[in-house]
Amino acid sequence: MPLEESVLVIGAGVAGLSTAVTLAETGTPVRIRTSEHPRATTSAAAGAMWGPALLQPADRVLGWVTTSYHRFVELAADPATGVHLEYGRMAARFDLGDQVPPEAELLPDLRRCRPDELPEGFVSGYRGTVPLIDMPRYLDHLTERFRAAGGELLHSPVSSLAEAAEEASVVVNCTGVGAHELIGDPGVRPVRGQQVVVRNPGIDEYFVEIGQGEEPVAVMPHGGHVVLGSTAVEHDWSRTAEGGTTDGILRRCARVDPLLSGAVVLEEKVGLRPGRDAVRVEVERFGGAKIVHNYGHGSCGVALSWGCATEAAELARG
Ligand SMILES: Cc1cc2nc3c(=O)[nH]c(=O)nc-3n(C[C@H](O)[C@H](O)[C@H](O)COP(=O)(O)OP(=O)(O)OC[C@H]3O[C@@H](n4cnc5c(N)ncnc54)[C@H](O)[C@@H]3O)c2cc1C
Repeated sequence: MPLEESVLVIGAGVAGLSTAVTLAETGTPVRIRTSEHPRATTSAAAGAMWGPALLQPADRVLGWVTTSYHRFVELAADPATGVHLEYGRMAARFDLGDQVPPEAELLPDLRRCRPDELPEGFVSGYRGTVPLIDMPRYLDHLTERFRAAGGELLHSPVSSLAEAAEEASVVVNCTGVGAHELIGDPGVRPVRGQQVVVRNPGIDEYFVEIGQGEEPVAVMPHGGHVVLGSTAVEHDWSRTAEGGTTDGILRRCARVDPLLSGAVVLEEKVGLRPGRDAVRVEVERFGGAKIVHNYGHGSCGVALSWGCATEAAELARG
């Protein structure tokens, strides 16, 4: 049924839900169509941590992560959201030099690690408090907020932009790596990531490896469980967890924190980061419809989510 004066959002990952919540909570009628349940999306497989995003376009990315940081700090006041503030380390196997990314200045307690605070194999790093996000709970929180604001969520894949444009005059495309097929954007590529969820053996600080490698270590505690990561394999579309990859993640994480040796595995997860040379938040005209794109957030879609959602919602309303 055509939507009179309402917005159709395609996608119910963190980008789609944040945009839909932003629109619905300011009085715009919104329908979401998604191929997957929010808990089955790539967003649900993320660790996830708010952190600096070294993506393009750099000036807009800085604004988006800054907006998102403040939102996550507010959300952390209510544990039911799945957002919480945690102290921990971000470290690299190379010298990070003296320059910190500008968004790191947002962290009030950020300081350099002393050499004795770094695990074996790491040569520099920082300590500080950041928002950590327990993604399945957080996506539930966003879905509940969306529905409470009158939004409608349909499990219904969209086969083409033409189909979407027939349904609504304003469409927001938040399809993540699905944009490769839906709008035929050849610049969107999967960067496959596997994570392992284990019972928390007593870890109360996060640890995240900084760098561009294929096997970055990540240890993100969320109360009773810890999300361990990860891998980053370009152009791999497989969403099946691999046992050998899980073993490698467990081994690397236990080297960083021996408490993790023999940790009880609860779940293995795979997500496809929507890699792209630049994040795409912009308007395209398609027939008589306005299409607002909000995709291509790579490994930082959670950290960028509120900033991009705010801008995408303004473009949709504008
Ligand atoms: C292992 C791992 C760890 C990560 N850790 C972090 C982290 O710590 N911090 C961080 O900021 N980011 C992290 N990321 C990246 C982050 O998960 C992504 O950038 C983000 O989830 C992308 O969100 P999205 O909503 O754009 O895409 P998705 O979550 O993939 O959602 C896309 C949505 O579009 C729908 N869709 C697609 N095509 C169609 C169609 N044709 N019709 C209808 N619906 C469609 C899908 O069903 C889905 O609902 C991580 C990613 C991985 C894999």
